[in-house]
Amino acid sequence: AAWRQPSLKRTKTVCTYCGVGCSFEMWTRDRDILKVQPTEQAPANGISTCVKGKFAWDFVNSDQRLTTPLIRENGRFREASWDEALTLVARRLLEVRDTHGPRALGFIGSSKASNEEAYLTQKIARLIIGTNSVDNSSRYCQNPATKGLFRTVGYGGDAGTIKDIEQAEVVVLVGSNTAENHPVIASRIKAAQKLRGQKLVVIDPRRHEMAERANLYLRPNLSTDLVWASALSRYMFDHDLADSEFLARRVNDVDAYRASLEPFTLAFAEEVTGILQARLIEAAELIGRAKSVCLLWAMGITQHSHGADTSTALSNLLLVTGNYGRPGTGGYPMRGHNNVQGASDFGCLREMYPGYESVTDEKARARWARGWGVAPETLSLEEGLGNFLMVQAAADDELKAMMVIGEETAFSDSNTHNVHQAFEKLEFFVVQDMFLSRTAQFADVVLPACPSVEKEGTFVNTERRIQRFYPVLEPLGDSRPDWWILTELAARMGHDWGYTHPSQIMAECASIAPLFAGVSYERLEGWQSLLWPVAEDGTDTPLLYTHDFPTEDGRATLFPLEWQPPAEAPDATYDLMLNNGRLLEQFQGINQTGCSPGIRAQVDQGFIEVSPALARARGIETGTWVRVTSRRDSLELPALVTERVADDTLFIPIHFGKFGVNALTGEHADPVVQTPAYKEVAVKLEVLDRR
Ligand code: SF4
Repeated sequence: AAWRQPSLKRTKTVCTYCGVGCSFEMWTRDRDILKVQPTEQAPANGISTCVKGKFAWDFVNSDQRLTTPLIRENGRFREASWDEALTLVARRLLEVRDTHGPRALGFIGSSKASNEEAYLTQKIARLIIGTNSVDNSSRYCQNPATKGLFRTVGYGGDAGTIKDIEQAEVVVLVGSNTAENHPVIASRIKAAQKLRGQKLVVIDPRRHEMAERANLYLRPNLSTDLVWASALSRYMFDHDLADSEFLARRVNDVDAYRASLEPFTLAFAEEVTGILQARLIEAAELIGRAKSVCLLWAMGITQHSHGADTSTALSNLLLVTGNYGRPGTGGYPMRGHNNVQGASDFGCLREMYPGYESVTDEKARARWARGWGVAPETLSLEEGLGNFLMVQAAADDELKAMMVIGEETAFSDSNTHNVHQAFEKLEFFVVQDMFLSRTAQFADVVLPACPSVEKEGTFVNTERRIQRFYPVLEPLGDSRPDWWILTELAARMGHDWGYTHPSQIMAECASIAPLFAGVSYERLEGWQSLLWPVAEDGTDTPLLYTHDFPTEDGRATLFPLEWQPPAEAPDATYDLMLNNGRLLEQFQGINQTGCSPGIRAQVDQGFIEVSPALARARGIETGTWVRVTSRRDSLELPALVTERVADDTLFIPIHFGKFGVNALTGEHADPVVQTPAYKEVAVKLEVLDRR
């Protein structure tokens, strides 16, 4: 009878997949998730969601969830109590610090956990261990974009909001498969194109859905985007399309930058990028004559050996055309994971305190030391190692202990064989996760964490929007929220911080970091949200740079650049280039989305995209099994013949297999930010007999 049924509960939560930050109500009865109901009040998405946010929640009740701490003994995991596991982790981390020094430890925070949890991760690394070697997966995705923005305009986040993207006269998508990776933003662009006549320019080696819809589509050769972007900037100056009034009033180093553009003629750009000059002119005229331009970019730009420079070139182009500080303008690095923006904002960065203050800045150090009640000397003035360099340091026997929280580093770092060997060398390895992930399988201790729906906290989406999420369910078994685990761990290392609710952690951070001065749980209650910077009185900043840039003189900077070819190029043996990326339905190594039968029914295995001309030349049809081999390893996959890829390029989705596409990727990284060059991989292709 109906009266016997436990009552229906509706709880506001925020999606834990991509950086759009969709919020919605989750309807539950006991532990059953009945449905996801978007609402008009949701600030980023309104009534929209995508297939992942709507249907990919089966992982929450999966029987694969970890429900008790695990300790490795004689090569096998055994169950342990929280007290035993945390006491062991605390003792071993301190032993490694005391024996080898703070530089021998590294911490990888989660881009899917909350802001408060990111804050505690870096607090343990900086305050208790004394190292700045704390990072998050933005090192693998948008850190190069952050660098490009710091060099030019000053804040490491999107210039405006999704509304600005909707309002722009022209939207330029560069290296961003928006329809699959940020579906709700793609829907807004499609609607603006249809209803408002917004012009869409897509510049991407892969002809994806948004490229098909574009008013103008340009296909550059892989890793050449800096060249067309700089050539467009030069064209603006040469053809009176630069915004000279804006440049004079708000931008430094204009002359030096203009002089640096000398090599970037249209002829040079055509030679390097393969884009015809006439098409480059078309793009330049569209962008240069538009009243407002939003430029969005993603991994197609950043996962290269010079992603920071290319991101800088894109921001330069926006400055030259005066496209900052007005509604419908600005640079938008699209954030991949749901809280990769927040993990960076709240300090899981090797070079920054929460709120983007340099660890080498003595004044910032003094304020953080005061806030934490320690002597300034407790906090290191030396920048730490990022994810990529931590793994390299472990391989070189320099890093002895690591803590990885909710990240699948054994799958998502480049050259996974190297990563696995590095993990095996660690003296002590602790992993905090919901699952016995590929990474957790290397651990000495595994601490079972909760998903967002079993805890409370805040996330920051790609717009810089801070939103609260509420507990929908109780923690499963003995799993615990990451903030609880980190608080208990700190206590066992002699630092009893006493947090009993994540709001206390946010209040502490807001009291020290000027960027979040006015952030509080009260101001974020329900569907309310705040876009940083947030002043002490609670005034937030949906659109950046309307008056000043956050620099000493309030002005932006044009940053001169040189183009350098990719780190890895084809040769007689490895004659093709390999691109890789995501699919709409799946997420990373499918630890979460793979638990949903409905999602698996859509796409459940890897494949490799081959162009029709290449397929004809090699005798390949859709379904033919092929072997793709890089200088590291091989993968065997069925082919999908499609015009999405150019004739000299292949594409693999990243989600499948034990090692994934990173079995093939190499050790090259951006020298500025150490982001691996995931998209610069030379390969050969062989046809196999089996079908
Ligand atoms: Fe929204 Fe992204 Fe979640 Fe889809 S994956 S529901 S677009 S936040």
